[in-house]
Amino acid sequence: MFDRLQDQPADKILALMQAFKADPREDKIDLGVGVYRNAEGVTPVMRAVKEAERRLVETQETKAYTGLAGDPAFADAMIGLILGETVARDRIAAIATPGGTGACRQGFELARLANPDATVWCSDPTWPNHLSILKFMGMPTRTYRYFDEATALVDFDGMIADLEGVASGDIVLLHGCCHNPTGANLTDEQVGRVIAILTERGAVPMIDLAYQGFGDGLEADAAATRAIASAMPECLIAASCSKNFGVYRERTGLLMAISADASDTPTTQGNLNFLNRQTYSFPPDHGARVVTMILTDPDLRADWEAELEEVRSSMLDLRDQLAGELARLTNSDRYAFIARHRGMFSRLGLPSEVVERIRADHGVYMVGDSRMNIAGLNSETVPKLAQAIVAAEKA
Ligand code: PMP
Repeated sequence: MFDRLQDQPADKILALMQAFKADPREDKIDLGVGVYRNAEGVTPVMRAVKEAERRLVETQETKAYTGLAGDPAFADAMIGLILGETVARDRIAAIATPGGTGACRQGFELARLANPDATVWCSDPTWPNHLSILKFMGMPTRTYRYFDEATALVDFDGMIADLEGVASGDIVLLHGCCHNPTGANLTDEQVGRVIAILTERGAVPMIDLAYQGFGDGLEADAAATRAIASAMPECLIAASCSKNFGVYRERTGLLMAISADASDTPTTQGNLNFLNRQTYSFPPDHGARVVTMILTDPDLRADWEAELEEVRSSMLDLRDQLAGELARLTNSDRYAFIARHRGMFSRLGLPSEVVERIRADHGVYMVGDSRMNIAGLNSETVPKLAQAIVAAEKA
């Protein structure tokens, strides 16, 4: 039977990782995959995570199953981190999931259970796996305009015009902060206008929050999510702890489903538990427990917040350095958007031939759509990248 299988399309980002590994040049630079790296190129285990794991090894007395929704303390801690007090707790159903990917998948599954006809609207562009999962599930998808290639900022008029076509009961997938792959984000005012349109159309927002703390800070990065969740009757939120806790391989995420009325929450929760049961029974616990320990222990939390702030500001410094270097080399402000973008990525708006030349001639690997991972740089490689961009554009 396996001889009947067809090859699956290669994941472009993972293929880029392979190509980078195979490149013998010593001064090659990897700006591909979305993993934070410090100036030494290392993805460190955060201090608070190490300490929480140490305590866990010492104190954990059982590894018996948790509940289908995971440990309720994890949901409580994450809801506090993401929503604060903005939504009544009794309207929120939640399950722990394997990472943000698992949260997205279960969110789509829940939407389909509730409304088999729902179309999921994704930004153009979006994290490619959103579209890949939706296609695999056979769910109808549409895209809304999001990125203006000319300015490298949000094409807000295009976005609004496209969202006018959303039908009642459709799902509109939004990035909570630090848009992947573009780095371009909505202003507070624009979020307000999106809320107004979704309300008018009767659509349900689904927020993918994978980078809280990587943009403007933990609170600021949650502001759009809080505004949307508190204004709309229903909302899905898929959160990942991979980046902000650096627990990528532990597969730690949470899906929240906010019902219009608290009386609906038990059924929503039952459906979420059912989805976990059908997929893997119990979600992974180690990362979730570590995150819970950090969020509920004042000392660990303060240390985590401090380290996350170092990570965030190092990426902002690199943005400023790169924008400055490009301004100097091009004698223009056409790359000023790099300093305005937020999060780990910026889409530079370069044609694919230029991206290819940057890779072939200078050994700098960015994704073919000209998305670069800013955390792949350090103060020595910033000038090299700036020179490579300028040279490849001229060639
Ligand atoms: N959503 C977005 C926008 C992402 O960029 C990512 C990670 N690349 C995820 C979800 C999934 O993250 P995780 O590794 O936690 O599954």
